[in-house]
Amino acid sequence: MMMAVLSDIHANLEALSAVISDTKKRGIKNIIFLGDAVGYGPDPEVVVEILKSECISMIAGNHDRAVIEPELDEYFNEIARLAIVWTRSVLSERVKRFFKNLPFVSRYKHNEIDILSVHASPREPEKWHYILTLRDAQINFYYFNEKICFIGHSHYPFVVERADSGELTVRTDNPFILKDNCRYIINAGSVGQPRDGDPRACYVIFNGREIEFIRLQYDLKKTQKKMKEAGLPAPLIERLEKGV
Ligand code: ZN
Repeated sequence: MMMAVLSDIHANLEALSAVISDTKKRGIKNIIFLGDAVGYGPDPEVVVEILKSECISMIAGNHDRAVIEPELDEYFNEIARLAIVWTRSVLSERVKRFFKNLPFVSRYKHNEIDILSVHASPREPEKWHYILTLRDAQINFYYFNEKICFIGHSHYPFVVERADSGELTVRTDNPFILKDNCRYIINAGSVGQPRDGDPRACYVIFNGREIEFIRLQYDLKKTQKKMKEAGLPAPLIERLEKGV
C-alpha cells in the first residue's frame, strides 16, 4: 500500500489541490502532513479544511503555532511576520482552536516500517531547529529509534541514510529503495513554497519499500494573483515562480 507525505503547504490552495489530485490518481489513501499548513499564502482556511479531510495524521509547524501565539512573532523575519499577522486576521476561531490541539510529533507504522514525523527536528521538535548539514542530521539520529523520520521546515527535499556503523550518506537517486540495516531522515520538501530552485510542488510517496519524490506543476499565477489581492508582501509573491 502506498502512502503520501506532505509538508509546508503554506496556504497555497493551487499547489495542494494539484498534489491531492495526484494522490487520488495513484489510489493513495494514507496521507500524512508534517506541518505549516498556513503562513505566506492566500488561502489558509480552505487549505486547513482540505488537510483535515484528507490526512490521517497532522502535526503543527512553526507558522501554524505562530498564528495562535503572537509571542512567537519575534522569531520571524519582517516579511514572514507580515504574512502571519495577515493570516491571524483572516483565520476562523475554529481553525485556531484546531491548531492549539495539534501535536508536535506523530508515530505510526506503514507496511511494518516504523515512522516518526516532526515538522523541524526529532531533537526538541517544539523548538524548530533546522536540519541543514550532515552534522545536524548526525546529532538528530540519536533522538529517534524509528526506521524513518520524516521532516519538513527548510522546504528543501533531501534524504540522509545512516548505516548501523554510523556512516552517513546523502541519497540523491529518485526513487530509491530502503536498505535493511539503515535508518533515514527524509525531508519531504514543500508543497506550497519550494526553495530548491524548482518551483513545482514537492511531496513524497512511500510504499513500504521505496521512497519517491514527486514534482508537480500547478497554476502558480493564480496563487500569485490572490496574494497580490490580499496585499501579501511582494517578495513572497515573486519567490513562488523561482522556487527559492
Ligand atoms: Zn514552512
